[in-house]
Amino acid sequence: MSKGLLFSIEEFALNDGPGIRTTVFLKGCPLRCAWCHNPEGWLPEPQLMRKKERTETCGFEMEASDLAARLLRDRDLFAQSGGGVTFTGGEPLMQGPFLLETMALLQDVHTAVETCGHAPEPLFRQVAEAAGLILFDIKLADPGLHRRWTGVDNVLILRNLAALKACGTPFVARVPLIPGVNDSVENMRATASLLEDAPSLQRVELLRYHKTAGAKYPMLGLDYRPGFDTEALPQVHDCFTEKGMKLLIL
Ligand code: SF4
Repeated sequence: MSKGLLFSIEEFALNDGPGIRTTVFLKGCPLRCAWCHNPEGWLPEPQLMRKKERTETCGFEMEASDLAARLLRDRDLFAQSGGGVTFTGGEPLMQGPFLLETMALLQDVHTAVETCGHAPEPLFRQVAEAAGLILFDIKLADPGLHRRWTGVDNVLILRNLAALKACGTPFVARVPLIPGVNDSVENMRATASLLEDAPSLQRVELLRYHKTAGAKYPMLGLDYRPGFDTEALPQVHDCFTEKGMKLLIL
């Protein structure tokens, strides 16, 4: 039985997949997106977080069986609402064995995994085949710009996207809308092209940038210097709908 490192479990989530869901946040992420609003998910270890007058430890361990037992307490609610459990982070595939073990213990509960796609290909395929839904984040189509804004290029991510399209598991493409970074017509058209020929694509979700993204950085002793104009409004283009894809703006 493996242990995982989590930083939050949130119940009654409505935007992380269908129905009413419990969202599990796993620690550790290989990316450093300039707009990340969950920097406490970056390190694969517990860390201190200063909140007003007190300091808390962010990160707690759980056995896969204990986490599954806790999640299964709400299986009736999941069944009634068409919901389930969503794993996110951080990047949940950083804890692949724990993720797969917990998912297997959830039996008939619907599972979704939100991933940035930067993970070893065999592991990615295993998780994609085990999950009921993949929420696949796509930030930038150009590999150089991807490296500039997230710290890694997107070569591995695009290989895993191709594997996801081939395996047939339903997926939602999630694109953060970052003003001046990825909201150009050029990038949105290139992103839409990456998603063509994917019958299992359910829809594209554009996630608006929130100015509050920097709020947690000082609590972790980090500076928030995103390097783009956080006051600008991101542009929304119809590059996805013109290719017949369903679009949701959150
Ligand atoms: S992939 Fe997600 S959790 Fe990781 S740095 Fe980017 S936005 Fe943050």
